[in-house]
Amino acid sequence: MITFEHVSKVYPDGTHAVHDLTFDAPNGRLTVLVGPSGCGKTTSMRMINRLIDPTEGVVSLDGQDTRSVDAIDLRRKIGYVIQSAGLFPHRTVVDNVAALPRLLGAGKKEARSRALELLAKVGLDERYARRYPYQLSGGQQQRVGVARALATDPPFLLMDEPFSAVDPVVRTQLQDSFLQLQRDIGKTIVMVTHDIDEALKLGDQVAVFREGGTLAQVATPAELLAHPADAFVADFVGASRGYRALGFVEATATVELADEVTVRVGARPADVVGDAWCVVVDDADAPLGWVDLRAARDVVEERQIDFSGTVARADGSLRDLLDAALSSPTGRGLVAGPGGRLRGSVTADEVLRHIAREREAGVAS
Ligand code: ADP
Repeated sequence: MITFEHVSKVYPDGTHAVHDLTFDAPNGRLTVLVGPSGCGKTTSMRMINRLIDPTEGVVSLDGQDTRSVDAIDLRRKIGYVIQSAGLFPHRTVVDNVAALPRLLGAGKKEARSRALELLAKVGLDERYARRYPYQLSGGQQQRVGVARALATDPPFLLMDEPFSAVDPVVRTQLQDSFLQLQRDIGKTIVMVTHDIDEALKLGDQVAVFREGGTLAQVATPAELLAHPADAFVADFVGASRGYRALGFVEATATVELADEVTVRVGARPADVVGDAWCVVVDDADAPLGWVDLRAARDVVEERQIDFSGTVARADGSLRDLLDAALSSPTGRGLVAGPGGRLRGSVTADEVLRHIAREREAGVAS
């Protein structure tokens, strides 16, 4: 656990960057520091690995005051990922990842084979290993940056705006694969971002900073959306909070699904039991979209499929269920189980009724 106790930082020029910061970043969890620019997020993060020393207060790692540990020893326990990866330009990808373990005495072969393992873990194909950083895209470089930070298997990881320098599509991919990786490695992570959506998506816990380097609120993403501590947090978290909060509520088994008539491409409408909209499924019974049998002629063709509806996962969130219903041409949102097989459908009304029931049950208990 990383602990801040009444930590403040005043820079020599008199700037009060961080003021009386107290919070914990629990082990195995991802804590995101978020807030407007200049509110002390980076300063706070750099006080963890002592790139910056606090003016007041104590930062400790698993109960040990970081000032009592040699700074170099401390940093061995703390991986560090920065924006734009910060790779060594004259070393190949694999040597970038192997550099620190080599410095710490690992054999060349051992360090390289571990580096290749890590590159695979962060989703980078082996064929990139011999390239130089400039021969990679920004997103690929960032993956190498993550692999390099994990090379010595440190228990703690600091990430400074790690996904900010890439375009939105690549950013989403990097975030998703990083979440997947974290499920595997379970590091104690502190990440800085100015992007509240990134914070809510990635954080197990989110610390919202306000100007003057004070903490406005520390909470889970669901709590921040449902119970912002004050007007500043509410405003910073932004609009559509009610709808976004549904993204953190699992679609429980108590939402009842209706059965749907299914059909495959190539089927003859005359052979189908049903005479209006039905679900087109592939060979694995995964839903592709809807077809209106009244408009289909001799056989159901791919070009007749309406792909507009999203498909929710049975173990996904209420937001996914509602979105599936709202985006469906029939108002019936498709829900798929493990392996993508169609499980049934749900309407927006049913989702809303479910939410109302849960709310009443919550109030009653
Ligand atoms: P954030 O990461 O939230 O954008 P920072 O921690 O970088 O904020 O900065 C907090 C405040 O401290 C800002 O007002 C910034 O200008 C100031 N600051 C950062 N580094 C220094 C420094 N080395 N000397 C003086 N002021 C600094």
